Amino acid sequence: MKNKVTVNSYFMSQALKEAYKAYKSDEVPVGAVIVKNGEIISRGFNRCISLLDPTAHAEIVALRKAAKKMQNYRLNDCCIYVTIEPCAMCTGALVNARVKKIVFGAFDIKAGACKSVFKIANNKKLNHQIEIFGGKEEYLSLECAEILHSFFKAKRSNIQSISNIFLGEGVNRVRRECDK
Ligand SMILES: [Zn+2]
Repeated sequence: MKNKVTVNSYFMSQALKEAYKAYKSDEVPVGAVIVKNGEIISRGFNRCISLLDPTAHAEIVALRKAAKKMQNYRLNDCCIYVTIEPCAMCTGALVNARVKKIVFGAFDIKAGACKSVFKIANNKKLNHQIEIFGGKEEYLSLECAEILHSFFKAKRSNIQSISNIFLGEGVNRVRRECDK
């Protein structure tokens, strides 16, 4: 059995792969995977622009697929790995879905609703609380932040081809794997 650190970084690297798919389609690079009993049951990446859908965050995309697959709108015993701390909308949806655990890569100090700006996920006033983990090396916090920084840096400098910009070693590892 893989140890906990390896399991966490494995699933987060899968979420990061999803983020890279968003990156390649010129969407804000956030990715997520939903895990049940040690298996990935769904994947999602941010698709707001391509779907013309402000709710198409990686978590929502993955949640919808998981619910369809499980044929259940409740996702008890599921855990979501997402590259950045979920926003208020996504955290609300995760509470409604009764997800058991949220593992996020990087903190989102501007919009995070698990720890940073709001604390929705484990709010005792709600009828469901989610266990929260995130923002540490074992959750690939650096790589998850790096891909976002690179994306916005490219946007700010108006670089046309994002494939030519420096992504940082962590993200490049994922990119090499995805581009194989
Ligand atoms: Zn969100």
